[in-house]
Amino acid sequence: MTGWHGQAQRRHALSRASTRFLQQHAGDFGSGMPPFGFPIRVVFFSGGRLRLPQNDLKLSVGRSERIRRRLLAWYDRHRRDLPWRRRSTDAYAQWVAEVMLQQTRVETVLTYYAPFLRRFPTLGALARAPLEDVLKPWEGLGYYRRAINLHRAAGQLRQDGRPIPSTAAELRKLPGIGTYTAAAVASIAFGERVAAVDGNVARVLARLFGVTEDATSALGRARLTNLATQLLPLRRCGDFNQAWMDLGSMICTPRSPRCGECPLSRECVALRAGQAGSLPLRRQRRPVPVVLTVVGIVVCGERVLVRRRAPRGLWAGLWEFPGQDGLPGANERETARGLVRNLGLRRRSALVRVGELTHRLTHRLLDFRVYRMPVASAHDPASPGVWRWVTAAELQRLPVCTAHRRLWALARATEVDATRAHLSGSGRTMRARGPRAAP
Ligand code: SF4
Repeated sequence: MTGWHGQAQRRHALSRASTRFLQQHAGDFGSGMPPFGFPIRVVFFSGGRLRLPQNDLKLSVGRSERIRRRLLAWYDRHRRDLPWRRRSTDAYAQWVAEVMLQQTRVETVLTYYAPFLRRFPTLGALARAPLEDVLKPWEGLGYYRRAINLHRAAGQLRQDGRPIPSTAAELRKLPGIGTYTAAAVASIAFGERVAAVDGNVARVLARLFGVTEDATSALGRARLTNLATQLLPLRRCGDFNQAWMDLGSMICTPRSPRCGECPLSRECVALRAGQAGSLPLRRQRRPVPVVLTVVGIVVCGERVLVRRRAPRGLWAGLWEFPGQDGLPGANERETARGLVRNLGLRRRSALVRVGELTHRLTHRLLDFRVYRMPVASAHDPASPGVWRWVTAAELQRLPVCTAHRRLWALARATEVDATRAHLSGSGRTMRARGPRAAP
């Protein structure tokens, strides 16, 4: 079941489940202590959602203690062996790990983390390095703004002659450190008693306590953070925060929670209400816009033209091939010819259409139309910007985003195919299937 109809059905089913749950526990609401441990005096029920006033989300001492004990005992037995956990008191190592983990899976981070720390083993080494050297080992990890902010923050601390701050409040003042990252670093490296609630942790808490607000809304986030804060132990706060993270990643997963293996199953409201897989509720996603771009692989002999992107915005500071966003309905080849004209370069031969490539980002779908553009001489283009003519080997050493690495791989593969076809005398067939010459 997909689309709006599926969403509506799901919401309706959830609403029915919530109603059933309320009816079954009708006697638990009002005054007194319901079976899941916190007193609830007022319940708002609208649009199929259970709403509890925030002040009433108070956990009983006994229930909090049980959850703490069970979760920490489970963590001591099942914790993931991750490289940054071997350096848990090293604030710099924690900081790098938490920044890399933003919007990125642990499995992906594992391939980047150790090489990055080998290249920049200390805060000082990171602060002294040119930005381009920092972006290169980040290549492919995405969200490059994270690397730029990390570098800026390291520079600021070095300039002020300060070490990494030891509290979440101070950490939050540094570029690129939000509430979650600050709490994670402060609790793990410095033992501060502060809750770190990311998407994983929010999901576990929403299920455990039957919180039905959208976990990404301000109210939902405040409510879940409030619960996480009440549950913090007096000691081992870093371990406790990491225990939630591991439980969310390993057991209480988004689609198929393994409740049979969960150390908190006896406390879980969602499990009891048959809602384990449906909480937390999520906002309906809007379809992402498609951005059409004509890209020029501008070549002169053995060299190809690249430019550095602006220091702010998407792929900030990375190198890319020149491109021109196309208007819907615009003639693609005319846009390609316009791209060469705007660069102020003289064509040596016809443009060749290399192919198409789509690349998905979180908020948009990029649709590239790629042209090979041989030009007569390698002088800098007329358009403003930082330009460079590079060989394939030099391009390899520059920091380039994944989308443009893919464009380059496509252009190279097509070039190799065309050469093979030419050598085997089947150039005509190749042109009919693949690259097409544009006048
Ligand atoms: S019992 Fe199931 S739904 Fe509840 S916290 Fe554990 S894994 Fe998540």
